[in-house]
Amino acid sequence: MSKQLPNASDFLPGPVLLLGAPGVGKGTQAKRLMEEFGIPQISTGDILRAIKNDPAKANTLVGSKAKALMDVGSLVPDDLVNSLVADRLAEPDTQHGYILDGFPRTLIQAEWLDRQLVAYLLPVVAVNIVVPEQVLLERITGRRISPAGRIYNIYTNPPKTEGVCDVDGSKLEQRTDDTEEVFHKRMREFRENTAAVIEYYREHGNRFAEVNGDHHIDEVTRDIRSTLLKLRHHPEA
Ligand code: AMP
Repeated sequence: MSKQLPNASDFLPGPVLLLGAPGVGKGTQAKRLMEEFGIPQISTGDILRAIKNDPAKANTLVGSKAKALMDVGSLVPDDLVNSLVADRLAEPDTQHGYILDGFPRTLIQAEWLDRQLVAYLLPVVAVNIVVPEQVLLERITGRRISPAGRIYNIYTNPPKTEGVCDVDGSKLEQRTDDTEEVFHKRMREFRENTAAVIEYYREHGNRFAEVNGDHHIDEVTRDIRSTLLKLRHHPEA
């Protein structure tokens, strides 16, 4: 039987980073941890998608820039992403911790985050989810998402009825950047920018861990959960 997590009142997760290439399962795992720990998931990809899909914002400079870059798999400029994260971290629900998913993706973002966190009660802990590259393409092209953000995969985690969300019956959609062509560009961005961010946190040693993401979703969640307890030196770890 898996060990139960202590509830949020006696375990303070603090700031948690989920790192890894596109398709390793950061979003899926962040949503599960969010429910369990009672802390918010902050996905810069979701924040940017909400801007580009909002009719009131899509034609602003930020909206059009985000769309142009995201649709081809390029990174959005650091200043823009950092300021979106700054606004989100200023909200009161981040007090006991939060899960950053898809941020930082460059060393400039990582150093900026360090400066933001100087005054925070706990240092950041980083978990790198590792999945072989040949598995990632299938995960990306098979991914389907409900309007409420529930994530499925037609190969590995299909909905009960094709194309329909199990929970609310809504129509599942494919992200415009979840194509094979854009995947290759996203992987290039990962190698050129984000791989260095992983090394940056690895150098912190005691605040970094790696988890094998090429297992069943539940097993990966269990591994991340016990890793977080260990990184925070929780007595139940
Ligand atoms: P994701 O949903 O995390 O896969 O992100 C989708 C896209 O949003 C990426 O391919 C980038 O274009 C953009 N994006 C998300 N997070 C960041 C970030 N931290 N820095 C720069 N661009 C980002």
